[in-house]
Amino acid sequence: MPRRFDAIIIGTGQAGPFLAQRLAAAGQKVAIVERKLFGGTCVNTGCTPTKTMIASAYAARMARKAPDFGVTIAGTVTVDMRRVKARKDAISEAHKVGLEKWLKQMENCTVYEGHAQFESERLVSVGSETIAADQIFINVGGRALVPALPGLEHVPYLTNSSMMDVDVLPERLIVIGGSYVGLEFGQMFRRFGSEVAIIEQGPRLIQREDEDVSAAIQEILEGEGIQLRLNAKCIAFSNRGGEIVTHLSCTGGPNEISGTHLLLAVGRRPNTDDLGLDKARVELDRRGYIVVDDQLRTNVPGIWALGDCNGRGAFTHTSFNDFEIVAANLLDNDPRRVSDRIPAYGLYIDPPLGRVGLTEDEVRKTGRRALVGKRPMTKVSRAVEKGEPRGFMKIVVDADTREILGAAILGVGGDEAIHSILDVMYAKAPYAVIQRAVHIHPTVSELIPTMLGELQPLASRARAST
Ligand SMILES: Cc1cc2nc3c(=O)[nH]c(=O)nc-3n(C[C@H](O)[C@H](O)[C@H](O)COP(=O)(O)OP(=O)(O)OC[C@H]3O[C@@H](n4cnc5c(N)ncnc54)[C@H](O)[C@@H]3O)c2cc1C
Repeated sequence: MPRRFDAIIIGTGQAGPFLAQRLAAAGQKVAIVERKLFGGTCVNTGCTPTKTMIASAYAARMARKAPDFGVTIAGTVTVDMRRVKARKDAISEAHKVGLEKWLKQMENCTVYEGHAQFESERLVSVGSETIAADQIFINVGGRALVPALPGLEHVPYLTNSSMMDVDVLPERLIVIGGSYVGLEFGQMFRRFGSEVAIIEQGPRLIQREDEDVSAAIQEILEGEGIQLRLNAKCIAFSNRGGEIVTHLSCTGGPNEISGTHLLLAVGRRPNTDDLGLDKARVELDRRGYIVVDDQLRTNVPGIWALGDCNGRGAFTHTSFNDFEIVAANLLDNDPRRVSDRIPAYGLYIDPPLGRVGLTEDEVRKTGRRALVGKRPMTKVSRAVEKGEPRGFMKIVVDADTREILGAAILGVGGDEAIHSILDVMYAKAPYAVIQRAVHIHPTVSELIPTMLGELQPLASRARAST
């Protein structure tokens, strides 16, 4: 006989544990299943460890730049990768252990450790045990996509997960993928002291962003000595006496970059292929993401999907918001929806990119009348004072409603300053609200009202590129 619960949660990512806590506090009998590391991607192989390592890389950069600030450091600046890793491990471990302990001590909550698989719409097996519930919440996340590139079987490669075990300085690191994960790792290891080449098959870096954002990021990375190779359409690998050779030419010419280490950062895939979803008749899209409605219900009544596995977000904050939406609907009689969410995220290169809403290009495609404002960080005192004048800020507003449509702040503190724009967007308030607010000096945010005072009509694509 299966052991019965009111709710089963599969995965302990950024939604599951918090939902377990709400359901258990409401008196429901909850089972939560984790097959590997408590806390999932963010805590163990994603946000926490990468941002911790980026902090070490920043320290190395500032130490090398110390003379610019009038500070003398005797001797050369070197990075001890074992200590970088130990610091990262300690911070990730504290998060993981804290979460595991919290779940295991939670009243009304039973923790199962093992791989969960659906046996039917209401039955889940974990190892030799079978558990049953009328409500099942899937929070299984995703993993690094390993592309079927020719010759990959002949060379050792790393992903964001195995990169976490590296405690030596790669002499020459090749990064495949010029998007968020690849750029963060690329800049970080360049600052640690590796030679870094980032290879991207598209014509520019992070193609989801506007061209001016991609171009400014390219300039920042090349300025730090990172080799960028764009339009690399025919990537293949070979092993030349232990050396990893990346071939880039479609015509078989001598176009290649060799390295000592290879990182694949070409995207993620959902962990839905080994979950027995066919037995529960849960619908997937053609990329393997679980199809959900605006309140995260799957096609099977009583089964929900939260976090990266539903394809409606790929961030810790979107997964956590999925928890809030499900909890609000089930427990608070509050009909929150995914479509209420405004897209927002950070890219944690240094200086960082804070992004919210539509890009300038996306606004242009909507055909609506819009205004755009832009300001280089060279005209932001706080950035100049901090010795980091790279990047710019940009905002796009609707010319008729006066509401903000989107913004990008690429520059020092951009990941924080973007929130003043985000909050006004959630309030659906006109941009004049920010303009009239008196911001603190000296900050990056204080120049947002100034930028809003210099709005210009959004040019068509032809005019914008001239
Ligand atoms: C390198 C990197 C950097 C990132 N940086 C950021 C960042 O700065 N900011 C940000 O917002 N996001 C970032 N992300 C994304 C972020 O980590 C994820 O969006 C976030 O972790 C949400 O994941 P989740 O809740 O969907 O599930 P996950 O955190 O992926 O957790 C899923 C859990 O389910 C478990 N599981 C899977 N299948 C089963 C099964 N069958 N049975 C039992 N357990 C199972 C897994 O072991 C895992 O613990 C980053 C990602 C990467 C890879």
